[in-house]
Amino acid sequence: MDFRLTEEQEFFRKTIAETVDKMIVPKADEIDEKDEFPWDLWREFSKLGYLGLRYPEEIGGMNADPVTAMIFYEEITRGSVGFAQSVIMNILMGTYFVYRFGSDAIKERCLLPAMRGEKIATICFTEDQSGSDLGATRTTAVKDGNEWVLNGTKMWITNGPIADFATVLATTDPSLRMKGLNFFLVEKGTPGLSYGQRLSKLGCRGAITGELVLDNVRIPEENFLGDELGKGVVYVGEILDEIRVMTGAMALGIARAAYEEGLEYARKRVAFGNPIGRYQLIRAKFADMATEMEASRLLVYYAAWLIKEGLPCRKEAAMAKMFATETCLKVVDEVTRIWGANGFAHEYRPQRHLRDARFLLYGGGTHEILKDFIGRSVIGKI
Ligand SMILES: Cc1cc2nc3c(=O)[nH]c(=O)nc-3n(C[C@H](O)[C@H](O)[C@H](O)COP(=O)(O)OP(=O)(O)OC[C@H]3O[C@@H](n4cnc5c(N)ncnc54)[C@H](O)[C@@H]3O)c2cc1C
Repeated sequence: MDFRLTEEQEFFRKTIAETVDKMIVPKADEIDEKDEFPWDLWREFSKLGYLGLRYPEEIGGMNADPVTAMIFYEEITRGSVGFAQSVIMNILMGTYFVYRFGSDAIKERCLLPAMRGEKIATICFTEDQSGSDLGATRTTAVKDGNEWVLNGTKMWITNGPIADFATVLATTDPSLRMKGLNFFLVEKGTPGLSYGQRLSKLGCRGAITGELVLDNVRIPEENFLGDELGKGVVYVGEILDEIRVMTGAMALGIARAAYEEGLEYARKRVAFGNPIGRYQLIRAKFADMATEMEASRLLVYYAAWLIKEGLPCRKEAAMAKMFATETCLKVVDEVTRIWGANGFAHEYRPQRHLRDARFLLYGGGTHEILKDFIGRSVIGKI
């Protein structure tokens, strides 16, 4: 057994952590307050090459292994969740199916510019009546000659209103539920594609979230992202573990940011003649937070290592996301308590972490969906 990161991974962490501290942390409060996409930061950050993190070097990527990718997700989220969410969408979910199934021309047009930050990507699963239950997807794709015609409305789409291209989940036969699902590439400017309502959110602000409306959108045959009809859900399975572990890594990032602020406050805030960190009840909070964050870290990086080794890890990835997210929620809550009334003030950061942490509960499986899955996995068929 060896729980250490490699020298390259350690170096990577140091480099990205320094970049986050210098480039992102100073802008995080403003991103949250304005709730606008930080274009200047995006352009500056794109130049560093991280948007090609998980794609091969031959196409301009970094070819990072899954453990290194988790280091990145953790560190960038420590800086700003809103910015991290947009960046991670370009790196992972928004480009994966284009990388996997896109023709050379599509990759040239969409993937490569997205890896350079010149184009913004998104993925569209969710609809009004289908979130966890993808089988209830109502967006339809109908073949007409050598074109596909898409109709429907997607909800809660990160980067939606600013995306240059979208990977859209649609059904070719609603009665087949999960077996009718397929992915299609829809590019900005395609007639019939429009953006509906932009959503105002509690946290993860700065990542622009909204509706995507498809009204008789016609796309060429080659925009079908798959090699067999009805396999959309199978393809999701290829990155589901990575999405879950990535969300666990994001949880570590938020928890660390909050925890550091908690420590600083507990060391300097004086009550009854002592720094509050000297009181047993406050120390107990840090003991619990430190222990649970360490346990989260072990689950997240162990699951990442399983992915890297190509070993099955559906249960481990679900555990990593569920535990790290719940730990994060606990840490941000404790830190706002430690900060007393200041934890309730807009002027300080703990309230931002408290709001941001809740965002982690949804994508990649809610707490209930993950718990149910883990329970079924361990009990087995009865
Ligand atoms: C900030 C943000 C950004 C997002 N970005 C995107 C995006 O880019 N693209 C995209 O497609 N989606 C996106 N989403 C949507 C996200 O993927 C969904 O919120 C998620 O899939 C859950 O779906 P839902 O919100 O409809 O909840 P539902 O599935 O309706 O669940 C509601 C509640 O019921 C519970 N529940 C559901 N089924 C069961 C069950 N079988 N057993 C027990 N409990 C159950 C859930 O756990 C939850 O508590 C985003 C969401 C947020 C908040």
